[in-house]
Formats: sequence, C-alpha cells, structure tokens
Amino acid sequence: MEKKLDSQIALKHLQEKWGTKPCQMCEKNNWSVSDTIFELHPYQGENIIIGSGPIVPIFPVTCNNCGNTILVNAIVSKSI
Ligand SMILES: [Zn+2]
Repeated sequence: MEKKLDSQIALKHLQEKWGTKPCQMCEKNNWSVSDTIFELHPYQGENIIIGSGPIVPIFPVTCNNCGNTILVNAIVSKSI
C-alpha cells in the first residue's frame, strides 16, 4: 500500500535545513514538495526483483521553473 509523506514534518525539516536557498540551476525560488514517497533501490538490469536489496525512501522537491529535482530521504527527515 502506498504510504504518504507526513507533509507537516517534511516542510518543517525543509524550513530548518534548507531555509530559503534558491534553485542551483536557475536561481529562482519556487518549489513544489511531493507528498508521495518514492523509493530508490539498487539497479539490477532488466530484472526487477521485489523485496531484494536495500530501499531508500525519498520524496522529490521540484523547482517549478526549471524542473531541477532534489531528493530528500524520508527517514532522515523523519517524515515517513
Ligand atoms: Zn530551477
């Protein structure tokens, strides 16, 4: 089942750690925070094996101007 981000905790984390820094690519400051958690797992070629290897849960923060996307670990940010 899909697990949603705790958006309030995620936003608080971003405010504390990120503050108001602009996008490194376009220097605008207009971000969207996804409330969907995605997962990174080791690349295994075309063979996707569910349940094998470590998984890193992340949520994307995307620049609305240029699309630059920063991935924040949902466990480290305690927002999962
Ligand atoms: Zn940008």
